[in-house]
Amino acid sequence: MYDLVIVGAGAAGYSAAIYAARSKMNVLVIGGEIGGTAAKAYEIENYPGFKNILGSELASKMKEHVESLDVEIKQDIVKKIEKKDDNFKIDTTVSGKIESKSVILATGTIHRHLNADGEKEFEGKGVSYCATCDGFFFKDKTVAIIGGGDSAATAGLFLGEICKKVYIIYRKEEMRAEPFWLDKLEENPRVEFMPQWHVAKIGGENKVEYIDLKCCGFKDENPSKQLEVDGVFIQIGADPDTRLADGLNMEKDERNFIKVDKTQATSLEGVFAAGDATNGSNHFEQIATAVSEGAIAANSAFLYLQKKN
Ligand code: NDP
Repeated sequence: MYDLVIVGAGAAGYSAAIYAARSKMNVLVIGGEIGGTAAKAYEIENYPGFKNILGSELASKMKEHVESLDVEIKQDIVKKIEKKDDNFKIDTTVSGKIESKSVILATGTIHRHLNADGEKEFEGKGVSYCATCDGFFFKDKTVAIIGGGDSAATAGLFLGEICKKVYIIYRKEEMRAEPFWLDKLEENPRVEFMPQWHVAKIGGENKVEYIDLKCCGFKDENPSKQLEVDGVFIQIGADPDTRLADGLNMEKDERNFIKVDKTQATSLEGVFAAGDATNGSNHFEQIATAVSEGAIAANSAFLYLQKKN
């Protein structure tokens, strides 16, 4: 019986694990994707202490920190959590059933699909959702990034270093990414901004060869065009992964994020939540805010167990 099981091995989960271990809780971290979203980020320049660090490197450093405190991190999928007699039964794919007195859900997000024609068909054949994972397959090639947020901008910075040409296609007049990233992108002659377009179709023979674009309400005489590309990186945001929370009938907000209070407590006693899956931190989904929520959640789990015992 663990004192605390943390589901999710990203920034929020790791931070919670560090605080829980230092409170001498018997804690286990379970994560499907070790490192979470942070590990897939390109350069991180807004996490204090690191002026510039690769996401994968920051995630490795966090993991090392957790392991140095003798916390076990299992790479496994949690299929279901049930509450029984004030404790939790956690059913996993590889490790079987695990029991815990409390739980922190740090399950993060699941990337969105564009739902364009050809997107499903060409997934893995030129369509990708992760620039740092798949970018090197497109060295010296032409790619399109879809989206106008920080994910699209940082993908643009990364791919702009290795690809011959990078189109960034977004549906508004302006990207909504951090101005700092936009300034850097503008300095790269290989990057071309394409505002007010959306992707109608991704096409090709056996792999991506082109995309068909339609304009989003501007005055161009030619409201559609085709671009020859070798790859399409879809970076249009992500939705909270609430599958386990749903199984526990936990309350969510109107945007489907797990509802937490200022102690990171959820609507179910003994379950806390932290990071991008919650409605905390004013929906400002950053590594810094995930780490903060993780720390608070671990402290709240500690206080909860003290009261319970
Ligand atoms: P965002 O939700 O911030 O942005 C999504 C973008 O995709 C918007 O431009 C949106 O357009 C567009 N979009 C959404 N749906 C569609 C669609 N169906 N068709 C076309 N375009 C679409 O998501 P991000 O993944 O960029 O960022 C998520 C969070 O992670 C943010 O809080 C961000 O700050 C953070 N982040 C931070 C990074 C860093 O600091 N290093 C790096 C990456 C992410 P529209 O504007 O028209 O709605």
